[in-house]
Amino acid sequence: MKTSGPLSYNEAAQEGLANPCLQRSLRGLQAHYGKGALAAWRSLPDQTMRSRIKARRMQTLAHLDQALEQLANGIRARGGQVFFATTAAEANEYVRDLARKHNVRRVVKGKSMLSAEIGIDAALAADGVEVVETDLGEYIVQQAGSAASHIIAPCIHMDRQQIGHLFAEHLHIPYTDDPPTLTRAARKALRQHLLTADMGLTGCNFGCAETGQITLVSNEGNIRMATTMPRLHVALMGMERIVATLDDQRELLQLLTQGAALQKLSTYVSFVGGPSREGDPDGPDEFHLVIVDNGRSRILADPEFREVLACIRCGACLNICPVYGRIGGHAYGSPYSGPIGAVVTPLLAGINRHADLCKGETLCGACREVCPVANDLPRMLAALRHKLAYGDPGWQVRPHNRFEALCFKAWQRIVGSKVCYEIFLKLFRALQRPFIGPQGMIGRLYGFGGGWTEGRDLQPLASSSFRERWRGVHSKKRGNCAGSAAEGQHDKG
Ligand code: SF4
Repeated sequence: MKTSGPLSYNEAAQEGLANPCLQRSLRGLQAHYGKGALAAWRSLPDQTMRSRIKARRMQTLAHLDQALEQLANGIRARGGQVFFATTAAEANEYVRDLARKHNVRRVVKGKSMLSAEIGIDAALAADGVEVVETDLGEYIVQQAGSAASHIIAPCIHMDRQQIGHLFAEHLHIPYTDDPPTLTRAARKALRQHLLTADMGLTGCNFGCAETGQITLVSNEGNIRMATTMPRLHVALMGMERIVATLDDQRELLQLLTQGAALQKLSTYVSFVGGPSREGDPDGPDEFHLVIVDNGRSRILADPEFREVLACIRCGACLNICPVYGRIGGHAYGSPYSGPIGAVVTPLLAGINRHADLCKGETLCGACREVCPVANDLPRMLAALRHKLAYGDPGWQVRPHNRFEALCFKAWQRIVGSKVCYEIFLKLFRALQRPFIGPQGMIGRLYGFGGGWTEGRDLQPLASSSFRERWRGVHSKKRGNCAGSAAEGQHDKG
């Protein structure tokens, strides 16, 4: 899996925080789409819909092999070809082979995160094949030589002025920041690519076992052209994107489009089940479905993480997450950003390698609430952190930071004993004194504690703890009681 840019998580997060354009966009995105999705779920006439569909997803995943076989049989029966790729390299090799065999010079792509996961653009480019994104957001990001920063809104990190300058440079049009003019310019350029492409390469939102078809949703119409105009259509499908029945798919589509864009249904929904048949007005000569595992079987085999495969990539969890909402998508260094990225990227590409992602989220629970399939991402993040703390040979995880683990062990001892805790408080109060500034706050810590004061001042420990005050109040009361009792006795006497 192609992950991580040249910057570390911390560096990219700092960069995102310092980008006013990104901050504005993220505020708008979260205010509208994040809150909108929550409202949409509250107004669902059937409040059991999400949990019911989740249960169906899990049931299908439990029989994944059969469901995939059924889908493959349906497609083969219509003249399509199906290839099961265990790794990213296998998937790439299959598509490259096809491109070589058919002398493909230009590929037009529909939006596909899986294609970014397996790095197919670079694999094709290595053979001299030109790859052009046709989703507007992806096209902009491709022209900018950047990466998508949101699952649904890839160029959320750019404003229209930046896009205006980009198009002026790449499409040789006079500078404008007028969105309709920019869209028309992109459409004109893309139309040429679509008319001359040899292969259409798309993702797949769902593959339906019952009907033997894949389904693709879009709002721009580009998918329809990329799947029907070139002579070859190759669809990449993560093996978990399978649904058992058309009924399941109908409900999932509703949740997907509402969670992603607050739409009852996307503008275009395309069903593809094979190459064009005699009498069809359009369609490719060949259709290939590449079903990719690339680490998903391992997730499926682990009951602790299996439910993450129920994800339908709607992006709603990004639109509500307080961390994504500040740092943006590039910090995640993967095609999958936000809370879903923080779980799925380490599982697919290495837990130690992506320890920062596991530790970066707040576990506030907002993503679980907004997720259309109620994925418990905070629980899975906590499970990942547990593996990082103690290691897990099954997932080839080694303890991430032994010093940190030691600190927490010591802390466990301290808070487990009243005497130790009180000694610790006294010691800490004495140690913190030189760091307390004139405003009564700790402005700067050093060494491993430095991160705590990098962006804020810390409140020092209070001069006395709750227990100490409680003891004080009680001993005073006892004193008063003893005093009044003595006085009472004196009076009686
Ligand atoms: S985890 Fe849930 S909210 Fe996040 S992308 Fe997947 S389905 Fe959508």
